[in-house]
Amino acid sequence: MDKTREHRDLGMGRPIARRDFLNGVAIGITGAYAAWNGISAEAAPVSTMAEAAQYPPLQTGLRGQYPAAVEEFERIRQGKFTQFPVADSELHEEFDLVIVGGGISGLSAAYFYQTALGAEQRILILDNHDDFGGHAKRNEFQYRERTFIGYGGTMGIETPYPYSYCAKALIKELGIEVERGAEFHNREIEEKHNLGIGVFFDREHFGEDRLVAGAGRLPWKTFFEKAPLSEAARKDLIRLHGKNPDYLAGSSEAEKRAQLARMSYQEFLLKIARINPDALPLFLGEGGRNNKRVDTMPALEAARHGAIGFNGLGLKFEESFNEGSYLFHFPDGNASVARLLVGKLIPAALPGKQSMNTIVRAPLDYGKLDAPDSPVRIRLSSPVVRVQHDGPAESARAVRVAYRCDGKLRGVRARHCILACYNGFIPSLLPELPERQREALNYPVKVPMMYTNVLLRNWSAFEKLGVSAISAPGMYHTDCRLDPGTTVGGYRGVSTPEEPILVHLMRNPNKPGLPRKEQNRAGQQELLSTTFEQFEFQIRSQLGRMLGPGGFDPASDIAAITVNRWPYGYAYTYDTLADPDVPPEQRPHVIGRQRFGRVTIANADAGAAAFTNQAIDEAHRAVQELLVHEGLT
Ligand SMILES: Cc1cc2nc3c(=O)[nH]c(=O)nc-3n(C[C@H](O)[C@H](O)[C@H](O)COP(=O)(O)OP(=O)(O)OC[C@H]3O[C@@H](n4cnc5c(N)ncnc54)[C@H](O)[C@@H]3O)c2cc1C
Repeated sequence: MDKTREHRDLGMGRPIARRDFLNGVAIGITGAYAAWNGISAEAAPVSTMAEAAQYPPLQTGLRGQYPAAVEEFERIRQGKFTQFPVADSELHEEFDLVIVGGGISGLSAAYFYQTALGAEQRILILDNHDDFGGHAKRNEFQYRERTFIGYGGTMGIETPYPYSYCAKALIKELGIEVERGAEFHNREIEEKHNLGIGVFFDREHFGEDRLVAGAGRLPWKTFFEKAPLSEAARKDLIRLHGKNPDYLAGSSEAEKRAQLARMSYQEFLLKIARINPDALPLFLGEGGRNNKRVDTMPALEAARHGAIGFNGLGLKFEESFNEGSYLFHFPDGNASVARLLVGKLIPAALPGKQSMNTIVRAPLDYGKLDAPDSPVRIRLSSPVVRVQHDGPAESARAVRVAYRCDGKLRGVRARHCILACYNGFIPSLLPELPERQREALNYPVKVPMMYTNVLLRNWSAFEKLGVSAISAPGMYHTDCRLDPGTTVGGYRGVSTPEEPILVHLMRNPNKPGLPRKEQNRAGQQELLSTTFEQFEFQIRSQLGRMLGPGGFDPASDIAAITVNRWPYGYAYTYDTLADPDVPPEQRPHVIGRQRFGRVTIANADAGAAAFTNQAIDEAHRAVQELLVHEGLT
């Protein structure tokens, strides 16, 4: 099909809610854009540009780590700020603590510092985005006089790892009762409409496009008989999903573990379980913990997380992975946790007593985040470019922090500084760090990820096809699911197919075949260089192919798109294939997070685990280190 026609059929030129970058200037397609293009105001589905500028969650289009938020990063990485770039005479503001990064870790650090030293402590949080929360990102849409709220990043509070006392206590102090999750879970779609998971077999990998509903519900034999697969692949997939033989018979449990630790899941499938290579594409979407792929995930890790193929090996795993509790989440995911923290730190921005019952709909006044009379201030759109002690680190009485705001370089001075940003950038922000520490901080490569929210005018195509979620292992987005929203705090989830709904799409860009860190780097570059139009094309085209047989029309059924790109997503975690087996205290994140003078390091990277509890724990440690250093405990 010729490109122009394909674009027209997909609705590429249609007015949807998004934000584009024309000559580097952010333009909302509604409001001003609609007027320029003769699009009627009614056709423009969401809030105006002015509203979105006042209230960042309403921004649509390219979000997450959007281009303007990270444009300073390249200059930082290139070492453009070896000298502190702001003259001493220009440092007019003084704080007790400056925190670089306003994610869950930075916000928690502010909270712990204030709790330890008193509410009058002057704290400044600097973040490069126009919204706080970091990965905890709220996406909001107003459509047909109703608000739809989605999560653009971290979703679940509970993790497979046990919460520390301190992280648990913080969640409780914020008024969140995780154990009440079941009360709020919106089960309408599964229970009333009886929808489940489908698998989309794509023509590039399986010879034809076909959506097969009933994964996990139908007997696997029946399910795979409906799929476009060769006889050999089908037979092997049925075997793998059933009771497997002991492929490593003759080896002891310890030997089996050692073997599995040294091979990828892909090697296990092809060489040990000996599946037909035609079946392998079904595993391409394999995310594994921390988004390891089928070719980068150690087979032992796959076995531990319950991947198929291992149940005949007789392995017993002690760890209990409690992912069931992921079921509780706010409609905006952990953005509600970030909002609750902001409410504690800056009550004027979020007045009243907030808890899990109120936070989702509580109006947050962004205009109050950086008020001069507030002891705690959050300064957004302010990337930090340089951090330097006033003199030698161990004897200095203060730290200077330079950041860019409104195109100008500015600076502040503080008694303490916490770096709650990304490990990989810290050596460039603070080049005075010892070489060994710099090397350790440079070791991890964050995982690139993409969470997209598409607002659909209705979801009757999903209902007709009998699916609420689609796994699409060979496609651009490997996962697609209806997000009816948790019914919590006065927010009403979606229940009928005629209602508009958010669809959540996931992609983990990578380059199969390369070592894991190289795959992460390639994925980061891909996300950084893809335009919104290119993302939009992929979204429309994929939804059209998967849902077309159910009557879905990508040109008319899409009301808005928000792409949250995260080139710097999950914290890097270690594994037996990609990382040397060293004692815990020699791990790069432990060496990297050492206190340096008046500066300490928080963020999930410092815990080498991509979880909310880790972000909180690292914040607590970073604050403790400052207090101990100064004898303030
Ligand atoms: C898509 C996605 C889904 C996830 N899902 C979950 C989940 O369901 N459950 C879970 O527990 N965890 C999840 N995580 C992991 C998540 O990263 C952690 O839970 C936690 O939110 C990390 O918080 P943080 O403050 O450590 O880092 P971040 O959220 O990354 O915050 C760091 C902040 O520092 C800013 N920053 C960086 N450099 C600078 C600079 N030079 N100047 C100023 N600011 C700077 C960043 O832009 C960012 O805003 C997810 C992560 C992603 C990306």
